[in-house]
Amino acid sequence: MSDLDRQFQDLVTANRILAREEVVDAFGHVSIRHPEHPGRYILSQSRAPELVDTLDLMEYTLDGDPLDQQGRTMYSERPIHGGVYEARSDVMAVVHNHSPAVLPFGVTGQPLRPMFHLAAIIGPQLPVWDIRDNFQDTSLLVTTMEQGRDLAATLGDGRAALMRGHGCVVAGSTLKEAVMASVYLQVNARLLLQSLPLGEVKYLSPGEIELMSQSQVRPTSLARAWEYWAVRAGRSV
Ligand code: MN
Repeated sequence: MSDLDRQFQDLVTANRILAREEVVDAFGHVSIRHPEHPGRYILSQSRAPELVDTLDLMEYTLDGDPLDQQGRTMYSERPIHGGVYEARSDVMAVVHNHSPAVLPFGVTGQPLRPMFHLAAIIGPQLPVWDIRDNFQDTSLLVTTMEQGRDLAATLGDGRAALMRGHGCVVAGSTLKEAVMASVYLQVNARLLLQSLPLGEVKYLSPGEIELMSQSQVRPTSLARAWEYWAVRAGRSV
């Protein structure tokens, strides 16, 4: 298998993992920057992630134009991916999801910060992007590059941003990193929803976040988690 085929297979696996871990359902998507053409990205045609296979993968310019559509329908929120890739040359993978555990933190002002070690990978704080701030009433879907760029500006150089009343976006310097951050972002949100009613939460310190996240993105750590999630999702590694 060529390196490119391997990366396409991994993108299929990422779709299945995110579905199996219930980070995405019928909606939500994951992309990679094209390994050989940094001005393009790879994203499935419009399909539930659990069902995505290699033939569903499509190549897009950063503006979201398909190189060879072949009559396939496309996710309307492609500008989330294009906006982040355009703003961040360090980002090689993007996940967009509507994790129900994460949603409350985008609408209440309650900060979503890491409170257990494996959530260090989400970074110290997650900004909240509100599409209404600059675009008035919309469907809340990010369907124009102007909106995608606005979202990417809120993300800044961070790992993830919440999207008010909608979901979140997660960026990774590798696909495995983006998947790991997406899974533990959700786990951390669930734990916070359990912890906040009990009393004041002691979050990880900036130093702890730095040290633990360095440990998490080591290839051996990422490979261990990836193998576990892939097998749970019925994929070989
Ligand atoms: Mn969405």
